[in-house]
Amino acid sequence: MTGTLYVVATPIGNLEDMTYRAVKILQDVELIAAEDTRHSRKLLDHYGIVTPLISYHEHNESSRTPQLLEKMHSGQSLALISDAGTPCIADPGYRLVSQCQKKDIRVVAVPGPSALIAALSIAGLPTDGFRFVGFLPAKVHGRRKLFEQFSTLRQTIVCYEAPHRLLSCLKDLVEICGAERPVAIARELTKRHEELFSGNTAQALERFSAGAIKGEIVLLLGPAPDSRPQGSVKEALTQLRETTELSWKEIVKQVAGDFGISGSDVYKESLDLRKK
Ligand code: SAM
Repeated sequence: MTGTLYVVATPIGNLEDMTYRAVKILQDVELIAAEDTRHSRKLLDHYGIVTPLISYHEHNESSRTPQLLEKMHSGQSLALISDAGTPCIADPGYRLVSQCQKKDIRVVAVPGPSALIAALSIAGLPTDGFRFVGFLPAKVHGRRKLFEQFSTLRQTIVCYEAPHRLLSCLKDLVEICGAERPVAIARELTKRHEELFSGNTAQALERFSAGAIKGEIVLLLGPAPDSRPQGSVKEALTQLRETTELSWKEIVKQVAGDFGISGSDVYKESLDLRKK
């Protein structure tokens, strides 16, 4: 019998956010693969878990993966944990999990905290669809390019950001996505100095310009406003024809731009109207 890989979520700040099942699984497995064994030992000591630990982090993922697969092939069950939250979410683990899938080793999720979901659940922004981008690029050019994509994205966007970069990030957001764009900033979730800021980008810039920014941060950007005109393309064409002196060519061009669709599509729609 091959063993199982349990992907176990651990607290993002408050030790009491450990699930009963997570404690039980970590006690029962033969080995726990942890990002930083010394860091995780504190959590395990808190719950009296004496299971041996082995390091598994971004720098040894490729050499460690075959060793862990071998152990599971020989029948041992393993747990994968990260320093905080859910493994594989902006954290190591993907390589091991995908190799397990390929080698028919069972992978079981033991769900629990994740900063992404915790922040989203209290941000007050639409959650029906959202885009998670992990850590924002550290370099200004890469970040600004990404923000250009965000400027028209009609979905909530969730990012992890380092505190020392938050201010310059907010300045870029105001410039590229506008001062009115809704934003939420969740800082130090589940910890003593937990804070949720909710407002627009200009207000966030003002609030966080006030002093040094510390702690762990999730930045959430609300969806871009829907700037498409109301009504159908035909209605827009008719309205421009009746209320302006523009030629059909100019009208087609303007409506295509307003609706963000191709000129040839608008041209086809205009043919019936032209006959009339
Ligand atoms: N796997 C983790 C998860 O599921 O949330 C994320 C790991 S990622 C390396 C660490 C980043 O998550 C931090 O830099 C911060 O952006 C965010 N984060 C983690 N804990 C947080 C907390 N308590 N409050 C706010 N953000 C947090």
